[in-house]
Amino acid sequence: MRSGTAMYGLGLEDQELQERARGFADELIPFEVEAELNDGRLDPALEAAQQARAIELGLYATNLPVEVGGRGCTTLQQVLVQEQAGRVTNALGWCMHTPPAWWPAVATEHQLETWVKPSARGQRHECYAITEEEAGSDVSAIVATARRVGDDYRLTGDKWHVTSYNEADYVLFQAVLSDGPHAGAQALFVADLPTPGISVVRSPAYTHTIGHHHPIVRFDDVAVPTANLIGGEGDGMTFVYEWFRFERLMVAARCLGAAERLVEESTAFARARHVGGVPLIDRQLVAAMLADSVAELFAARAMTYETARSFDAGADPKVLHARCSMVKLYASEMANRVADRAVQIFGGRGYMRENVAERFFRELRVERIWEGASEIQRLIVADQLAKRGLSALV
Ligand SMILES: Cc1cc2nc3c(=O)[nH]c(=O)nc-3n(C[C@H](O)[C@H](O)[C@H](O)COP(=O)(O)OP(=O)(O)OC[C@H]3O[C@@H](n4cnc5c(N)ncnc54)[C@H](O)[C@@H]3O)c2cc1C
Repeated sequence: MRSGTAMYGLGLEDQELQERARGFADELIPFEVEAELNDGRLDPALEAAQQARAIELGLYATNLPVEVGGRGCTTLQQVLVQEQAGRVTNALGWCMHTPPAWWPAVATEHQLETWVKPSARGQRHECYAITEEEAGSDVSAIVATARRVGDDYRLTGDKWHVTSYNEADYVLFQAVLSDGPHAGAQALFVADLPTPGISVVRSPAYTHTIGHHHPIVRFDDVAVPTANLIGGEGDGMTFVYEWFRFERLMVAARCLGAAERLVEESTAFARARHVGGVPLIDRQLVAAMLADSVAELFAARAMTYETARSFDAGADPKVLHARCSMVKLYASEMANRVADRAVQIFGGRGYMRENVAERFFRELRVERIWEGASEIQRLIVADQLAKRGLSALV
């Protein structure tokens, strides 16, 4: 085992899983530059082999219960795996995928067999269509509709930034019910891809270079059976909030991994690079940058592991919601500062796309935006502070 891991109170099983994930991340790292220079893509056979290896190593669907084919890991273990996924650029670590874990508890038998279990096996892949042109931070402002027609629902609306649409074979669609006893409330639906009426409006280019695209997707009176409603009509945004909590914690975990890699790589460079006959690491202004990064990484890791443990201890979901906001806010902003310092330490090399710091500098920016931007996380934390008091949160 690597020295230092024991300081977080990790058990032997946790450390073994962490090492397995670290070893797999180390296998992926050599492919980063090829992906970067090839629009984020690797040979499809290689991508399939990487997913198969993630499954074989027990690093896939760590968040799903064993009964549906997942690994049934604790939340802390899920964090340990995603932390290692975060050490890899160009989203190559996403092959350690986490399918929708909020679903099994509310899925019908049909939904379990059609979508959940095949997803746990890596045979089916989801994407989420929630955000709209005028509804991002404020999910309650969505205007996409679901209308009941006989035994179908008809889904209509344009969705933005639908991540992994090009990889997915089903889409989760959040809509406002336009009629019936729950008219005006939100509900979540699943639609297979392709289904007539679902089309790509356009697929914009984004700052990072990854194989997963984020197109604007149009749903034009798309007919899905009533069996594709997830949960009940009155369930509103329950699943979205549950997914946000999970994803915010996992964003924090991946930011820890990114920061660790950046500190390790920039430290190695600062040791080897001599300027004016002196190793960079002996220049105090450079040493101070590294020290700040290490201190911030330590703080972020401690709070992220602690939050994962409070999930496993069954803490109140509202308290967890605030804690996930705190770790997502702090870890994503920390990782961006660490990436900025790493670019500075690498100097001109840090501006080259073949350099890990350059790639992370671009890739980490979105961690402060998606799954709720930093401002939204601050609002959630302040709201819970006002309602519950400091002692409930920290
Ligand atoms: C690469 C990428 C992938 C994504 N993938 C998906 C996906 O798969 N599925 C999906 O549904 N969505 C996805 N999103 C959407 C993402 O969740 C939203 O972009 C995010 O929630 C912010 O919404 P917005 O872009 O509409 O910004 P806006 O809501 O317009 O906010 C703009 C700015 O205003 C700030 N702001 C907003 N409200 C307040 C307030 N009350 N007080 C203070 N400041 C405020 C925000 O913090 C932000 O800085 C993705 C986005 C990106 C960039």
